[in-house]
Amino acid sequence: MNLDVNTLFLVTIYVEAMLGLLLLFAWVQNSAITAVAWWGSSHLLRALSIALFGLYGSAPEWVAIDLSNAVLFTAFAATWVGARIFDGRPPSYLGLFAGALIWLAVCRIPAIANSMEARILIASFIITGYTWAAAYEFWRGRSEPLVSRWPVIFMLFAHGALFLLRTPLSTVLPWIPDTQVYESVWLTVLSFEALLFTIAIAFILLAMAKERTELLHKTASLVDPLTGIPNRRAFLEGAAVMAERIKDDPRPAAVLLIDLDHFKSINDSFGHALGDRVLQVFAETAHANIGSDDLLGRLGGEEFAIALYDVDRKRAMEVAESIRHAFKDAAADVDGHPVAATCSIGIAVSEHGPFDLPDLLGQADQALYLAKERGRNCCELASVEIVLRLDASTPSLRINGMQAHSSA
Ligand code: GH3
Ligand code: MG
Ligand code: MG
Repeated sequence: MNLDVNTLFLVTIYVEAMLGLLLLFAWVQNSAITAVAWWGSSHLLRALSIALFGLYGSAPEWVAIDLSNAVLFTAFAATWVGARIFDGRPPSYLGLFAGALIWLAVCRIPAIANSMEARILIASFIITGYTWAAAYEFWRGRSEPLVSRWPVIFMLFAHGALFLLRTPLSTVLPWIPDTQVYESVWLTVLSFEALLFTIAIAFILLAMAKERTELLHKTASLVDPLTGIPNRRAFLEGAAVMAERIKDDPRPAAVLLIDLDHFKSINDSFGHALGDRVLQVFAETAHANIGSDDLLGRLGGEEFAIALYDVDRKRAMEVAESIRHAFKDAAADVDGHPVAATCSIGIAVSEHGPFDLPDLLGQADQALYLAKERGRNCCELASVEIVLRLDASTPSLRINGMQAHSSA
């Protein structure tokens, strides 16, 4: 099959320019992700580079070869800088122009300027360097759960590898010495691959930026903005996941329901802003006192919940007590104010049965009610007696067993 390289060139210039404008348009629509502007610029620079290369024969060589390659390297560098910015790293302006500057410098060396092989080798190294560096930047950010990150890494790696193989492969697909440079078989293959790559990478990068935006929206809808911990919805969803896990691998689990004591008077005495700080202190303290498998959430106002995985009654009570003590210490003085905040905690444990969250929350709520009744700043463990007592509204039936009481 013969591909007309001139046609391929024109198509590639047109496609690169269109993709560049498409990405810039997407960036204007959502300017929060600046990397998209860098990737758009990368495509526009590639269109310019190919247009300059197309002038081979009619323009001086320093324009068609030296300058066009310098622009091409800057285009690949822009993709790399975009990858850095996408993952919150600073742009490197030296790195952006390093490839172009190295190229323009070595082109002044006669031995290199006169050797097509040497120049191909250097050009290939620069392009591979930038594409692999971009792949590496995306790899470094892999902890962010973006599915489209993986095809981007693979494509950049493969594209870089192809350029690196270009020198050994050019002996298999040789430059044809008698014809003009852009009629070589190798150039046809590279141009065709470059066209496919550029279309694919533009769309996958765009998809990745879109996925990032959606992830941010999703995260924002699940995180309490004041404390940075899961909100009610996220807590309930997380607890449902925990329930599934326990169904497959039965383990005891517990729910703690926590309500800050006399919070209204803290607001009244110290102001709403300091009340907010107390809520943050509680979230930090609670977070520091639970395990990585456990779940903490702000149900609303000054009410929090914790789902503890793989704990029996004794351990659940220990965790609750450690949170209560730690919070009492941390909130004795908040930002220089003697707040002396405390919390009350109701605990419900599911030792054998299924992890029925509504049921456990209901039990923990009744235990919390009792803790408040008992004077606050204490932990209460739900038991059948509590339920009976509160349901029957009988005044003095004590809960048995493992309840803990407030301590100074
Ligand atoms: P108790 O010991 O019985 O729990 O008393 P309390 O004062 O904590 O209970 P109450 O439910 O009457 O008061 C809760 C207060 O929490 C009322 C509300 O103004 C305050 N609050 C709810 N959300 C926020 C918030 O995001 N920031 C601040 N600063 N206060 C909040
Ligand atoms: Mg409350
Ligand atoms: Mg309260």
